Amino acid sequence: MTRNMTLRACVLGQGITYSRSPLIHGYWIKKYGLDAEYNICDLPEDRLPGFLTSIRQGKLAGCNVTIPYKQIVAQYLDAIDDAASATGSVNTIYSSNGVLRGTSTDGAGYLGHLREVHPTFQLKHARVLILGAGGAARSITDVLVKNGCLKVYIPNRTVTKAHEIAGLNPSIIKPLSWSNLSSKAGAVDLVVNTTSLGMVGRQPLVFPLEHTTPDCIISDIVYAPLETRLLAQARSLGRPVLDGLGMLLHQAVPGFQLWFGVAPQVTDELRTLIEQDLLSNG
Ligand code: NAP
Repeated sequence: MTRNMTLRACVLGQGITYSRSPLIHGYWIKKYGLDAEYNICDLPEDRLPGFLTSIRQGKLAGCNVTIPYKQIVAQYLDAIDDAASATGSVNTIYSSNGVLRGTSTDGAGYLGHLREVHPTFQLKHARVLILGAGGAARSITDVLVKNGCLKVYIPNRTVTKAHEIAGLNPSIIKPLSWSNLSSKAGAVDLVVNTTSLGMVGRQPLVFPLEHTTPDCIISDIVYAPLETRLLAQARSLGRPVLDGLGMLLHQAVPGFQLWFGVAPQVTDELRTLIEQDLLSNG
């Protein structure tokens, strides 16, 4: 006899009480009336193997992965997909037929939000300026290149990291020094801030938006604050914009579908729920 069991997933990390993932997945669990739960799982590294075995055995449906485990968790998995191997990080784990698998959904989350807000934007042949060369920059660059971008310029303070990302596709991705930040401003169709500049408590990003063309989309993946100075300035110049919250919501979609079998919608109601949480808790 098969016993119905509550499906369980969580976000795995350390010191992650701030995570919005329980709020996002909890909203969908309620909306779709599922017998499921999603919690925070704060674990030291020595407990990772045992925790991951419980997913392989089906005791847990899976998990998201965040700081500090995104880069190191792959060694405990049986398989990672192309997105995880290209980005060198895993943010979603699930088990299929006893095989423990990892993927990275940040790039797909960025693309999902871009397509939702700017459906007519042509990625094919687009020229993109990605500010910063950290983990998020790598994920976004990988997905943009796979979707046909003509050129991706990457200025970064530590230029060697931009060179490492260029290794994904050297003929399309061009590293730049941080002092050359503005050199391509007028020659691109999309600007993406992936640095932590502009976050609450950090210095703002200083970028010559006035050099960009009127149709150039200005995008910031920082979501705390919701409206960064970069986005506020872009709006005041009449540029189309894309904020960071949508990426956060869209990157959660694949995991929910893999664990609970329902493709969830990113609704205005969900967005408002997280916006209110960000405004009241920072
Ligand atoms: P990361 O790997 O630590 O990369 C941070 C980037 O910021 C690096 O390129 C770093 O340059 C640059 N940076 C930091 N301080 C700087 C400064 N003073 N001047 C110039 N550049 C500076 O972080 P990440 O995981 O990619 O995340 C980056 C940002 O994206 C964070 O704000 C994070 O919250 C946000 N994010 C948002 C989402 C979303 O769903 N919306 C998802 C992931 C990340 P160096 O290489 O020289 O250190």
